[in-house]
Amino acid sequence: MKKTHVLLFVSIFLFLSCNDDKNKKSEETMTENPLLSEWNTSFGVPPFDKIKSEDYLPAFREAVKIHKEEIDVIRNNKEEPTFINTVEALELSGEKLNRFTNVFFAVSSANTDDVLKEARKTIAPELTAHNDEIDLNTELFNRVKVVFKQKETLNLSPEEMRLLTETYKNYVRAGVNLEGQNKERLKEINKRISELSTTFGDNLLEETNAFELHVTDKKDLGNLSASLIAGAAEEAKKRGHDTGWSFTLQRPSINPFLQSSPNRDFREKLFQGYALRGDNNNENDNKAVLLEIANLRVERAKLIGFDTHADYVLADAMAENPKAVYEFMDKLWAAALKMAKNEQKALSDMMKKEGVTGEFRGSDWRYYVEKVREERYQFNEDETRPYFEFTAVREGVFMLANKLFGLTFKELKDLPKWHKDQQVFEVLEADGKHLGVIYMDFFARESKRGGAWMNALRQQSNVDGFETPIVTNNFNFPPPTKDTPSLLSFTEAQTLFHEFGHALHGLFSHVKYRSLSGTSVPRDFVEFPSQVMENWMSEPEVLALYAKHYQTGEVIPDAMIQKMNKANSFNEGFRTVEYMAAAYLDMNWHTLKEPNSKIDVRKFEKDFLKKMGLIDEILPRYRSNYFAHIFSGGYSSGYYSYLWSEVLDADTFNEFKKTGNIFDPVLAKKYRHMLSSGGSKSGMDLYKEFLGRVPEIDPLLKKKGFE
Ligand SMILES: [Zn+2]
Repeated sequence: MKKTHVLLFVSIFLFLSCNDDKNKKSEETMTENPLLSEWNTSFGVPPFDKIKSEDYLPAFREAVKIHKEEIDVIRNNKEEPTFINTVEALELSGEKLNRFTNVFFAVSSANTDDVLKEARKTIAPELTAHNDEIDLNTELFNRVKVVFKQKETLNLSPEEMRLLTETYKNYVRAGVNLEGQNKERLKEINKRISELSTTFGDNLLEETNAFELHVTDKKDLGNLSASLIAGAAEEAKKRGHDTGWSFTLQRPSINPFLQSSPNRDFREKLFQGYALRGDNNNENDNKAVLLEIANLRVERAKLIGFDTHADYVLADAMAENPKAVYEFMDKLWAAALKMAKNEQKALSDMMKKEGVTGEFRGSDWRYYVEKVREERYQFNEDETRPYFEFTAVREGVFMLANKLFGLTFKELKDLPKWHKDQQVFEVLEADGKHLGVIYMDFFARESKRGGAWMNALRQQSNVDGFETPIVTNNFNFPPPTKDTPSLLSFTEAQTLFHEFGHALHGLFSHVKYRSLSGTSVPRDFVEFPSQVMENWMSEPEVLALYAKHYQTGEVIPDAMIQKMNKANSFNEGFRTVEYMAAAYLDMNWHTLKEPNSKIDVRKFEKDFLKKMGLIDEILPRYRSNYFAHIFSGGYSSGYYSYLWSEVLDADTFNEFKKTGNIFDPVLAKKYRHMLSSGGSKSGMDLYKEFLGRVPEIDPLLKKKGFE
């Protein structure tokens, strides 16, 4: 359920608004543009030291031009369509553009500046338009169709067959088969959804920024950490106050306040402010916007030939259909809800014990969780930081990769980087053979977006020779200070293992085609290789390898680990329930069978949650009116994916445990083999090959304490 991802560029950029062509650069310098020239660097890494921010936009335009020419050659080919001259040719086209987008989106996410920000506004919609032009091109599709119809007679390898069927399917899913009025309507729908998604996001941002809770009495801050207090004081200044502290509806601001402030009224004000974003019946209200999106999506699904939008989306996922998603979630819901109700009892008892009268409210939840944790477990997460010095954690993840797969890591100090703080490593096989390169960028800074993520600078492929992968990991860890190194919290250390799991997925790739390599897998599979790594991270055997006090070298004491695990597992019911309520809402909005503009959005949500038995003190992690993942991001009918991936990771780690050796070499080899196939087979087929059976949910139930 962590919110760290591999970047899903395509889905993210589908939803950006259009921008005018305002930055036409001269083309005479094109031959020298380092983004377009040959890269004569070690391992062919991008020449970051030579690339200037001003180079991106002209390189993009040129790369698109080259791709269009390549597409025209395929489209206008006078020969009969074949697998090679059409399907594979499409796959291999756009090499320069792909190389460009890899570098551009990596750098503009991790080390941006004003020029890059502007370029991104221009490039994102132009790239979407360029891709649409290819995906809705009837002549190209007709050629693909000819090949597809002969597929049984072509003697294709399994991977070539996969490329052919995926290519064909993508065209059909884009709606290329539609004709006349229907095709026009599809284009209208796509355009309208794209506009509405932008509006939804803009409204949400307005509502989030408009809200402020200004605190003037220091005792209302409770035990907030010094850095958060300093941040709130800065926010107050920014908002024109001479003194005091301002809290906003951004998660890093609201959550610590709800956990720390003893002022019930303030907590309630902040909590309600958060819950009502986009639902205030003002000009930024999102209810009509999201209803129109949901209605347009079902209309589009039906045009293309599916019953509902969820059927359309899930046909491409490991779960395959809405029924499977509901059945899977229903298995967890009752147990999670029961656990959450028990937690609520403990919390309201604690509140009474403190002498606070009145009903226990949703806004009290996080505050009393901390109180219960303190009383029951005497645990404070900050105690663990000295044991998770960031270099030690990095070494820990490298040692784990060595124990499981025999990999070693050699730092490459002289390679060009996008920022001086980056660390670059060559990844070597047990026999010393080169596997790939990983760029790691650890610390928070202004030029980096929030969160943690992985992406590829070069995807593995093997058409004209084997191209080894180059991947990146990006984090927002606290930078070291003059006196102390960067000390991670347990959760941050977990994030390092998580992202490294995505990196391994990219590094282990061993396929022919780029579009089927590495992390190019369905959304409900992609978090599996990352989440599974978190299991090893907290095993005593693994902690002993790396979790050592940065001053004394003492290994983290068992007693502290046990205390930590117990403290972390309290509130698991709440966490699962608030997440699942949102995942159910997502599915409900996207299993509408007909457009229906009469739906009352609030009532729709409320009736459903009541039917599920959700208690009033828990809100869905996202209410419909601010559920940006599904209404302005690429996660519609996909929010369940995190939990689905958790089933796979718990099941997999349980298999390791069953062997009696969490580094079992035989199982590790099979696991690696599964990852090496990337997206060249379906997620379920990969899993069945790996363990010889379908995934089992019991290990997850056990892990969450739901049995
Ligand atoms: Zn992830």
